[in-house]
Amino acid sequence: QEKEGLEPTREVVLGTDHEFRFEVEFNTKVSIKLVKGTAEIFGTELAMGVVYTFTGRKAAVYTWHGCTLEVKGAFSVEYTANETPMTSYLNTHLALEGLRQTAHDQHEMGPRVMVIGPHDVGKTSLSKILVSYALRQGGSPIYVSLDTTEGSITMPGTVTATCISHIIDVEEGFGSSATTAASMGSSTMPLAYYYGFESPAENVKLYKLVCSQLAEATRSRMAVDEGCRESGFIIDTAGLIDHVGYDIIQHVIEEFQVNVLIVLGHERLYSDMNRILGQNKSVSVVKLSKSGGVVERDRQFKARLQRAKIHEYFYGTPKCELSPYSMLVNYDDIKIWRVGDVIAPSSALPLGMDSSSNETQVVKVDNYDMCLHSILAILNADQNEHENKILENNVAGFIYVSDVDDDKRKVTILSPSPGRLPKKHLLMGSFKWMET
Ligand code: ADP
Repeated sequence: QEKEGLEPTREVVLGTDHEFRFEVEFNTKVSIKLVKGTAEIFGTELAMGVVYTFTGRKAAVYTWHGCTLEVKGAFSVEYTANETPMTSYLNTHLALEGLRQTAHDQHEMGPRVMVIGPHDVGKTSLSKILVSYALRQGGSPIYVSLDTTEGSITMPGTVTATCISHIIDVEEGFGSSATTAASMGSSTMPLAYYYGFESPAENVKLYKLVCSQLAEATRSRMAVDEGCRESGFIIDTAGLIDHVGYDIIQHVIEEFQVNVLIVLGHERLYSDMNRILGQNKSVSVVKLSKSGGVVERDRQFKARLQRAKIHEYFYGTPKCELSPYSMLVNYDDIKIWRVGDVIAPSSALPLGMDSSSNETQVVKVDNYDMCLHSILAILNADQNEHENKILENNVAGFIYVSDVDDDKRKVTILSPSPGRLPKKHLLMGSFKWMET
């Protein structure tokens, strides 16, 4: 399969403030090496002479001062561009650094930034750039991901907060799920809450609940970590900007006490936010333009990305391979929960019962067949946790149900770590996966 060795190496020379944009399919591998000058990928510097390999990626190598790259392999798209919004992104970063300095001097909290905009405008890329720049200046910002479609930190369906204190991996991007899985249960595991669905619109009440839990946990984290407190956080969001999206944005602003709102690539959203937040002088709304390099990812690519993320959680990446453990668990040793039937029409409910109360009501799963091929979140809950408090627990890790044997009353699970399950309460969402 390794036919890349046969392909010739090509040289790409980039001038000041240029970028090399590329796309690679999932089944191909390309490599990029910096041989002269300086360059970065979404804010993270490339090391000189190191060969970086990419699969299933769309990205850009940007240079402030010019560089030469050696590239190899079959890119599906590749070109050089000299019009980028990088200067405005850098200026935004510098303004945030100013706020961090003030926070430092006055022993206050650093900037609480939230990036909003439609799908595929570069929100995640900009968040990465801002986090990387803060890191490069000696800060330790928290990266908050509320984008449940992608699961840029752990699993799809999860909202997370990670204190970024060392260099972001150029090849694997942000906190690869492999390293996350490897750190399962340890203190470096990001703070995570499981929502379990792809779009926030599927169960808005639950989505808001997990966001609130995450906000509270992030605050507690910042209270005990001076570095994180002064650096503040950057919230990356799902691209929902209809009326449901607006409602969620306002909720997140309140819960996370956001004071800098960056609107990316959408004039109307910017003007609406100014209007909605008009009275609220504590939030500065900033408009930034989208990079011409941002590519739209179709449904298929996103589904592929999700599967790759799940696979990576259990099996790791070429750089950090994991061998997951398969084990048998008795029905009676675990409790699987799912969130109640979401859309019960109010006409079907007893008089006086609010249909939305179901949306955050957990139901115990008795029919284990339902869980076959599901991803389950292991909750950090006590054995005797009350049913009403189940959703308040953060995630200790994830398992995959590969088989269900109703006769023997046992399930076969796949887990990144050996030994017994650390906790017995498991939460099921809508994500299914097939090992391939
Ligand atoms: P959003 O978070 O708004 O959905 P992303 O930041 O994930 O958008 O960007 C969408 C896709 O475009 C990603 O695959 C990302 O890597 C790619 N991308 C972003 N900026 C560039 C760029 N300047 N050149 C090439 N690809 C880019």
